[in-house]
Amino acid sequence: MAEDVDRVDETGTDDEESEPEEGMPEDVPETVETKEARKISLRSNPLGFILNIRMLRRIFQILAFIGINGYILLAWFHMPNVQAFWLSIWQNLPTLPILAPLEAPFGVIAGSFDTMIREFATGFFPFFTIGAMLIIVVIVGRAPCGWICPIGTIQDFITLPKRTKIRPTQGTEQELRKVKAYIFVIVAFLAVWVGFARLTGTAGALENALGDFVNDAFAPLNPAYILFVLLPGQRWPTSLETLWYFTDPNLWSIWALLQMVFVIFVFLVSFWVPRWFCRWLCPAGWFYSIFSRDALIGIGRNPARCTPDTCNVCEVVCPMNIRIRKYPYKHMYSPDCIMCLECKSHCPNNAIILKFS
Ligand code: SF4
Ligand code: SF4
Ligand code: SF4
Repeated sequence: MAEDVDRVDETGTDDEESEPEEGMPEDVPETVETKEARKISLRSNPLGFILNIRMLRRIFQILAFIGINGYILLAWFHMPNVQAFWLSIWQNLPTLPILAPLEAPFGVIAGSFDTMIREFATGFFPFFTIGAMLIIVVIVGRAPCGWICPIGTIQDFITLPKRTKIRPTQGTEQELRKVKAYIFVIVAFLAVWVGFARLTGTAGALENALGDFVNDAFAPLNPAYILFVLLPGQRWPTSLETLWYFTDPNLWSIWALLQMVFVIFVFLVSFWVPRWFCRWLCPAGWFYSIFSRDALIGIGRNPARCTPDTCNVCEVVCPMNIRIRKYPYKHMYSPDCIMCLECKSHCPNNAIILKFS
């Protein structure tokens, strides 16, 4: 894959030539005018450096990350009031279209995909889970991926300090994106099979054969499951004073160690390849993307402001590696868009618009 990779600097300059879609303008370096436009915008609104959508999203992501693991506030920091605050928010919500396992001991809300798979595997059809997920995704698209999901948040924060990102060509990107769909099909198929076998009382042999993969075949490779269920299942430190538990080698099985290595690998790679797990591997994200394309809230480009022949800043900063200029001005309907609004924050001509339709 090495020759298929473009290195892209956040300033908009590709080190190597990428392969644009047919009829698409070539990737172009950020022009002097676009840099100047950004400076002028900053001069006219210096507070914009702090009070902007990017910063708002970062703060929201941090708060959501803590809130989703609300019980940890009591266990670790002895903050019952803050914990009660988060419980009051999340417990009045249905499952959310994010990646968050049901069994997380500190978790106060679960992901729609994780819940759906568990319900299939117990022989239930997840009407409520799918219904709630549909309502959310049809309204805000995959914004929960961009603003709430803890695994997306970790990847975003790891990517932050790196200015030079690796971006595969569109052909490679499209092939890699298919992997998460295959994973979804396998995981959903196994869950339905196990559920059916349990309903008919014939699940014994299947349960033995599948082992750790029986209730949710994705769980052993799910970073959220490994971080929020497996890790606490080890000898989890229950206070700051017991943090040293992590260093006790006797508590780790080989399998648990391999899973931790996988999680570290996922986060390490996201330093160079933003949200690569979301883009290529996450079956939950793929499932949500089926319904997000025509969400009521989306983004478009103002044709009077956008200068696609001399600028590609929005594409360079897009963590999902979406070729935004290839879509119609009116509606950027990519199912991979997570509504992070990085493109809007960085567009030097303020050409990205939020659409409500
Ligand atoms: S694609 Fe998966 S891991 Fe990424 S933000 Fe969405 S649900 Fe979370
Ligand atoms: S939307 Fe903005 S960043 Fe993207 S091509 Fe148009 S002017 Fe450039
Ligand atoms: S198109 Fe814009 S809003 Fe959508 S994922 Fe890319 S940067 Fe975020």
